[in-house]
Amino acid sequence: MNDTTTNNLIYRRVLLKLSGEALQGNDAAGISPKILEQFASDIKVLVELGVEIGLVIGGGNLFRGAALSEAGLDRVTGDYMGMLATMMNALAMRDALERLNIPTYTMSALPINGVIEPFDRREAVYQLSQKKVVLFSAGIGSPYFTTDSAASLRAVEINADILLKATKVDGIYNADPILNKSAKRYECLSYNEVIEKNLKVMDATAICLCRDHNMLIRVFDSGKPNVLKKIVLGEPEGTLVQEEK
Ligand code: UDP
Repeated sequence: MNDTTTNNLIYRRVLLKLSGEALQGNDAAGISPKILEQFASDIKVLVELGVEIGLVIGGGNLFRGAALSEAGLDRVTGDYMGMLATMMNALAMRDALERLNIPTYTMSALPINGVIEPFDRREAVYQLSQKKVVLFSAGIGSPYFTTDSAASLRAVEINADILLKATKVDGIYNADPILNKSAKRYECLSYNEVIEKNLKVMDATAICLCRDHNMLIRVFDSGKPNVLKKIVLGEPEGTLVQEEK
């Protein structure tokens, strides 16, 4: 990658949040190796630009505590199953990244000896400075939270320049653009507008944490070619959530 491109980076450290569902592709559940490979190559472009990347992956393609609880399981047990699902996704993503020779470091709020390192903020920051992609799994390690909240927390902890939230649509709309063809996309919103308008892009805990620590959020369509590169070079992809202007 040439120096001019690298010098034009507007974000040098990012926290990328992928939902578990994003990994399943067109399948009803599970992990699609093809999709994993696609995400890994998109991430490789950023690594080659010199961007430091923290990665949080959800678990909704496998288990969600709330859904399990509706089906009759104890909520807390379901949430731990959800957290374990995020660990499986992180292992699969680590594998895909390493197949492309991208150095990684995987941490978990619920570590497994010999498999995934325990979460340690200082270690995470060190590994990022060594240009490794740091995968944060098991959310924050407590039930009743989501991986969106974990992504906000890790973004703040590693002092990321921005939280990049990948979705299936290209930003935040005033209505569901899949169901409502006249839905309008916002280019920019404040944290309070997201909360007041009840725009279901991330849960309120996640938005409030970003608001309280002034962490920028960009919501974008992960299926768009070269979208991550465009974002770190400053192109206005999707919707930006920031402080009230
Ligand atoms: N979870 C949890 N605590 C956390 C993070 C996740 O209990 O800190 C559980 C929760 O049940 C959640 C599931 O793990 O539904 C999977 O995460 P999430 O729903 O955020 O995944 P995504 O929707 O991003 O795929």
